[in-house]
Parts: sequence; structure tokens; C-alpha cells
Amino acid sequence: MTNQPGADDLPIHDFPTATSVAEFTQNIADVRANISRAAERVGRSPDDVQLLPVSKTVPEERVRLAIAAGCTQLGENKVQEAKRKATNLADLGVEWSVIGHLQTNKARDVAEFASEFQALDTLRAAAALDRRLQAAGRSLDVYVQVNTSAEPQKYGLPPEELEAFLRELPQYGSLRVRGLMTLAVFTSDIPRVRTCFTLLRTLRDRMRDIDPALVGDGGLSMGMSGDYEVAIEEGATCVRVGQAIFGARQVPDSHYWPDAFPADGDAVAAEA
Ligand SMILES: *Cc1c(COP(=O)(O)O)cnc(C)c1O
Repeated sequence: MTNQPGADDLPIHDFPTATSVAEFTQNIADVRANISRAAERVGRSPDDVQLLPVSKTVPEERVRLAIAAGCTQLGENKVQEAKRKATNLADLGVEWSVIGHLQTNKARDVAEFASEFQALDTLRAAAALDRRLQAAGRSLDVYVQVNTSAEPQKYGLPPEELEAFLRELPQYGSLRVRGLMTLAVFTSDIPRVRTCFTLLRTLRDRMRDIDPALVGDGGLSMGMSGDYEVAIEEGATCVRVGQAIFGARQVPDSHYWPDAFPADGDAVAAEA
């Protein structure tokens, strides 16, 4: 059942596992070259696209190799895992970006070790983070997560609620809004994926037209290993890339986004 991708499909990758500094150096160089080509296709500068390597599920020994290969900031989906790595790898001075959903009872942890939080989608979380950050005398870069896939996903604001949400954020003075973040719909169909990225850019532009201060830096965090080149063509300023740098993950994506895989069949089939 190997389906060959068509012209409108994302390519199928088999991301090999990097197990040496040299392999990490190579993978990062390959991703950066792809970033440059995608940016140049649409007349953008590659310097305007930040690469955020995502190290979730990767054991600390291999994360150390990636850091030795030049990673200075790492993304993690789950707070517990991020906190453990931040503690055990504290000697290496990397910055940690939490990119997954936050339960408010973990706000204190995030306020302690993270430099960035990319999945802000409730005022409850904003308030909890701000309270902890104020107490610690710290600030935090945040992206507001938007649900652009028009599917009933648990995470991310519906587009029509974005403006009202952004208007509330200035009261949380320790949060520095860097822009908007999204996950595209989980499909290999490029036009459908692209629609999600185009929508995020359109929302950013619309917010800026209403009031430039609403979206802070106006950044767009969008694109993962399978679709970051499409995201860059649509204006991404940050791409979150795990598997293309670290190697294929054994944990299926449905573990992180159960709602995106209602029957769980797709994800299991993709891993098998
Ligand atoms: C895991 C993850 C990524 C990276 O996905 P890959 O397929 O490993 O590139 C990006 N964004 C979020 C929110 C993630 O949890």
C-alpha cells in the first residue's frame, strides 16, 4: 500500500535518525538549504525565517549532539519533558520554546524555564503565566495559536475570536507577543495545507490593518518537517522542524493531536 505522491501531494520522507554531530550538522544544513530555496522562490530573504528545531521524544544524549551541531534554541511540545531537558541540559545554555498546549497548572514551570511559548490560546493561560512571570521578574515571548484548519480541533483560537483575544493581551505585561502560530491540517494534499498557512498570513495582515500593535512583531510560526517549504512560500517567519533534523519519531502524531485523528487510523497506518 505505498501510495506514490502526485503533483499536488507533499513528498513522503523517511527521515533517518541522526546519531552523530556530523549527521546533525548535515541535516541542519539540508533543512537550511531548503529554507533558502523556498524563500528565494517567493522573493523573500532566508534570513527572515527562523529555524526552530523540535526535540520532542528525543533522548538527552542525542539532544546534546544536536546542540553541539549548533542548535541554540529547541522546541518541545510537552511541559514535563521540556522541563526535564532544560534542567538536565542547563550546562549547555540553550533556550527552550514550549510549542504545545499548556494546562494552567503547568504555567509556573513554563514561567521558570522557558524563553518562549508558542501555543497561547486562552486568557486563563495568559493570566496564569503573567502572574508567575511577574513574581519571577521575567518576561516571555508568546505566539497566539489559531485553528486554521476549519476542523474541530481542540487547540487554537477560531479565527473570528482572534481580534478580541489580542485586544486583551496588553493587560498581561510580561507577555511579549511575537506573532501568530498554527498547525496545518494533517494531510498530504498541498493545496489544503497551503490554505491554512494563507489564512494565518491573511489574519496577521488584517490585524495589522486594524492596529499594528495587536500582533506585536507580526511573526508567523507555521510549517513542520513535512510542509515547512509551503509555509515559507506563504510567509512563515519561524518553522518548527523535528523529524527532518532528528529523525522519524516512533510516537504517532495522534499522541499530540488526538482530535486531528478521530479514528486514529491514519496515524497508525502512517507509522506502520
Ligand atoms: C512536533 C511538533 C512540530 C514538529 O513536527 P515534525 O514533524 O517533527 O517536524 C511542530 N510543531 C509542533 C507544535 C509540534 O508539536
